[in-house]
Amino acid sequence: MKVYKFGGASVRSAEGIRNMAAIVKAVSATPLFIVVSAMGKTTNALEEVLAHFMKTDREAALEKLREVEDYHKKIIAELFETPEPALEQIDTLFHELRNYVQEAIGDDYDRCYDHLVSYGELISTRIVSSFLLEAGVGNMFLDMRKLLVTDSNFREANVRMEDSEKRFAQALDFSRCPVYVAQGFIAANSKGDPTTLGREGSDYSAAVVGNLLNAESVTIWKDVPGILNADPRIFPDTVLIPRLTYYDAVELAYSGAQVIHPKTIKPLRNKKIPLYVRPFAAPDEAGSVIGEAAPPIDVPVLILKKNQVLATMRPRDFSFVLEESLSGLFAVLNKHRIKVSLVQSSAVSISVCMDNTRQLSDALDELANDFKVSYNSGLELLTIRGWKKEVIERTTSGRELLLSQQTRRIARFLMKENTDC
Ligand code: ASP
Ligand code: MG
Repeated sequence: MKVYKFGGASVRSAEGIRNMAAIVKAVSATPLFIVVSAMGKTTNALEEVLAHFMKTDREAALEKLREVEDYHKKIIAELFETPEPALEQIDTLFHELRNYVQEAIGDDYDRCYDHLVSYGELISTRIVSSFLLEAGVGNMFLDMRKLLVTDSNFREANVRMEDSEKRFAQALDFSRCPVYVAQGFIAANSKGDPTTLGREGSDYSAAVVGNLLNAESVTIWKDVPGILNADPRIFPDTVLIPRLTYYDAVELAYSGAQVIHPKTIKPLRNKKIPLYVRPFAAPDEAGSVIGEAAPPIDVPVLILKKNQVLATMRPRDFSFVLEESLSGLFAVLNKHRIKVSLVQSSAVSISVCMDNTRQLSDALDELANDFKVSYNSGLELLTIRGWKKEVIERTTSGRELLLSQQTRRIARFLMKENTDC
């Protein structure tokens, strides 16, 4: 069997969902597990609903929810010849959402987030499953909150592979039902409380499913031709990299390449399952494949990570940074779930470049107990893998550099964010 994953951008419109169905129909002889994200910008919209709800502005939350509902109903109206079954199903989901927004108590932000935001995926998969049925592709809808077991680390939950494997084995039988449709991004803890795997986590869901079901391959359908050597929205003259190793892919994802979620590779690598990244808009093209072996990448790869902060810490008691304070410092960052992108140390200070997230100020506050902390925000980190002098010149000239690091293969530059683009 194979796993196909369709992201929010692919299923954001009736036309996209039709294209998805055509892609699925083209492999009708293959047993398929289909993972789908929330449609378009639904996750962001539900985050807004949540923000109103947390401020107990229930009216504003309901108003925003109506927008989300209208968006999905419009897609259904355009998509179906017989819209009633799909409408009924999503009516139930919106009814649950409205009840929650009107009656629940918003105490723990992360827990409420997972409860509410997970509906984006439930709604999209109901629509997709119904549409595939109407298009003649028999399939079974699955609720990942009942199948994928995680810990209770809400908003960034860790999958419990063994528990999940048992549930998958019980629920699925490809000889009886060759196509399943399920949500990316969402799961539940062992008590059944909904959890999510982190923003953009559907790729990771697809990889976990691939691992649990020993899939022949996992394919992520994307709105790009495959894995490119740079983001074409930022850099000119990009080229496709047809084959990459798991190692290459982890490095790219870690440096901030948005084409795949960093956690995606490990579950696949462990079972040597190839990962295809293929163009949703041109399903006949091969795209890129990530696997055990690949020729060396012979073009410079450019990755730009935005919204970075550089914090410099000096121990208040003058202890040498590297020996004594390092583990404490990282423990604090880890506790606040801060993702570190780059580290540079000297005898008396350590500089850490990190994603600028909601939890950052709490982390910096806590670090201020032991360190004198100074920081800069509004930064972007450029990583050039396989750098060449002219590429560095082209991409950094005239820019204010706060920090640079260079090895034989990799060059990294931390700069003030470019406000021109
Ligand atoms: N819908 C979720 C998000 O937008 C998960 C995903 O798309 O991968 O973050
Ligand atoms: Mg998404």
